[in-house]
Amino acid sequence: MSLPPLVEPAAELTIDEVRRYSRHLIIPDVGMTGQKRLKNAKVLVIGAGGLGSPALLYLAAAGVGTLGIAEFDEVDESNLQRQIIHGQSDIGKSKAVSAKESIAEANPYVNVILHEERLDNDNVMGVFEGYDLIVDGTDNFATRYMVNDAAYFLKIPYIWGSIYRFDGQASVFWPSLTNEDGSSADAPCYRCLYPEPPPPGMVPSCAEGGVLGVLCASIGSIQVNEAIKLLTGIGDPLVGKLMIYDALEMEYRKLKVRRDPNCALCGEHATVTELIDYDAFCGAVSEEAADAAAGSTISVTTLEHMLKEREEGTRDFVLVDVREPNEYEINKIPGSILIPKGEFLNGNAIGQLAELTNGDKQVVLHCKSGVRSAEALAVLKGAGYSDAVHVGGGVVAWVNQIDPSQPSY
Ligand SMILES: [Zn+2]
Repeated sequence: MSLPPLVEPAAELTIDEVRRYSRHLIIPDVGMTGQKRLKNAKVLVIGAGGLGSPALLYLAAAGVGTLGIAEFDEVDESNLQRQIIHGQSDIGKSKAVSAKESIAEANPYVNVILHEERLDNDNVMGVFEGYDLIVDGTDNFATRYMVNDAAYFLKIPYIWGSIYRFDGQASVFWPSLTNEDGSSADAPCYRCLYPEPPPPGMVPSCAEGGVLGVLCASIGSIQVNEAIKLLTGIGDPLVGKLMIYDALEMEYRKLKVRRDPNCALCGEHATVTELIDYDAFCGAVSEEAADAAAGSTISVTTLEHMLKEREEGTRDFVLVDVREPNEYEINKIPGSILIPKGEFLNGNAIGQLAELTNGDKQVVLHCKSGVRSAEALAVLKGAGYSDAVHVGGGVVAWVNQIDPSQPSY
């Protein structure tokens, strides 16, 4: 299915631009008209992180005339393994500003608009308005559903990508797309593919689970490829198709995604007719975990104090790190033992802890940031450990507040 171009061509290219884009101009499918369309295009990239870094650089180099960057975060050392739009000297700087500087170096003819605010229900429509399409580089489900819904309400195509460890996915969601005769093209939205977010704590983020740096380039470049096709009206776009990439097997698979007639957003009897509470929809932690953690969460300073007392022999407890072994190698709270969260879910941890606690010692759980330990805490409380607690903020808070000599990730 080929589509008409999204963008009208700009009046002309300057001589400098003709020189710069000559390798595009001599491709018959792109040519002068296609390049003029790119010049006239306005693309919003959400996030100048893993996916946003290659996406922004290639969109800029390709000559997309106006690039919006929605990003509120700052550059951290742990970003540089994959976020190639930022460099060593950008650490601590606004990612949006850092990205803008790199773009100016890659292509000074691009007009960059910064949206340095966290996207929320109050601003998302205003930020999106006026852009021809959205390239999404967000890494959390709440923002993704919000972006999908806002793009749908504004009838803007939404180029989605997602990455985790060695696996990537990409698609183009554009439910308002019509056929030539004006009838609906039945193109799906993100909710047609994923009607519900995964249960909280089930799908770790890249910060929790890791990502191969170069995977960002594989998926980010697919997103840019689709953007260029839509803007210039060439090729067969990923509308109604899901691209799945496995970097270890070096395998690309393309699956059909159909419009769900019962989709809550774009279906026949839509229930989502305006922006909703996305944090509540996606839930930071499950209800059981939230209940378990209520009144049973201690701070890292309390833990430090408890560890001191344990050393002095005035208190005894078992400190359990519920992360994975490879995370435990990076940093740890001294005196902790490792029992990954999965062992709690399959029940093995309970037997292990019965031995370690002799049935009377308190158990203190922690993970990276407090989500997984809250899930494990719910299991533990269910097994009768009523005085068990978990550490709010996890090892991240420990490194930040107690022991900055350890690396963070
Ligand atoms: Zn839908």
